[in-house]
Amino acid sequence: MTEAPVRRPAWPERYSAWLLPPRAPEGPWARRTLEQARRGLDAAAALLYPPHCMSCGTPLPAGPNRALCLGCAERIEWIGVDRCMRCGDRVGQGRGAVDGCPSCATHPPVYVTATCTLACYEEPLRSAILALKFSAGLQAVGLYGRLLAERVRETGLDAGKRPLAGIVPVPLVEADRRRRGFNQSEELALELGAALCVPVRTELLKKVRSTPPQATLNADARRQNLRGAFVADTAVCAKLSGAAVLVLDDVITTGSTVSECARTLRDAGVGEVRAVALARG
Ligand SMILES: [Zn+2]
Ligand SMILES: [Zn+2]
Repeated sequence: MTEAPVRRPAWPERYSAWLLPPRAPEGPWARRTLEQARRGLDAAAALLYPPHCMSCGTPLPAGPNRALCLGCAERIEWIGVDRCMRCGDRVGQGRGAVDGCPSCATHPPVYVTATCTLACYEEPLRSAILALKFSAGLQAVGLYGRLLAERVRETGLDAGKRPLAGIVPVPLVEADRRRRGFNQSEELALELGAALCVPVRTELLKKVRSTPPQATLNADARRQNLRGAFVADTAVCAKLSGAAVLVLDDVITTGSTVSECARTLRDAGVGEVRAVALARG
């Protein structure tokens, strides 16, 4: 995979994305009307319950930014040019994009050819990402989708030898998805897919077994924990032998979740798997 040229100065300009107006709704008339109605309801709800910064709780000014106040946004440790192309982790300043890093040496991102993320999984972004598990946190997915799309284009994850055939959000077990009412990775994937004009392919991968939370486990136990938890649709995956898909998770820590998703998809016949996440732990 070749590295796309990076415009400089890249990262401080990201702050302005927090304030961009939302994109005009696209698609058929019915979908545009529904989206406009949804935005109208959102705006009314924001008047009644003004949005607050998801990290420090400061009320946010009226407008499209529903995630973090600018004070918090300025503290985000963005992962810019200096990064590992394989696992998406940051590397020393001035090193540029490197192929392999110390994190890869201990936890190689098997079955994933390239990874990009927005920033480090630290406060204040950590609070905003944790909030995605609750419906109130979802108000920021439109913004994240646009930031992710920019990052994917800059790092060339939408290019490469094999064409990008779809975005595959890391699935939840159906019962968990129903209980929560949504899957935050799927919501992010829909926004990213719309921005990149790439379809979201939830039919490719299902999670069939609940797994204990990964956070309490070490890297080896995480891999064991996930073995056999995902099942791919082999008939559909076999048709993608010449294509690549982009697995999307909210956070990549040791990479065991995206690796297990990638292994399942590759075993079922998908040609290549790349990975994208909001944050790198
Ligand atoms: Zn704040
Ligand atoms: Zn690495």
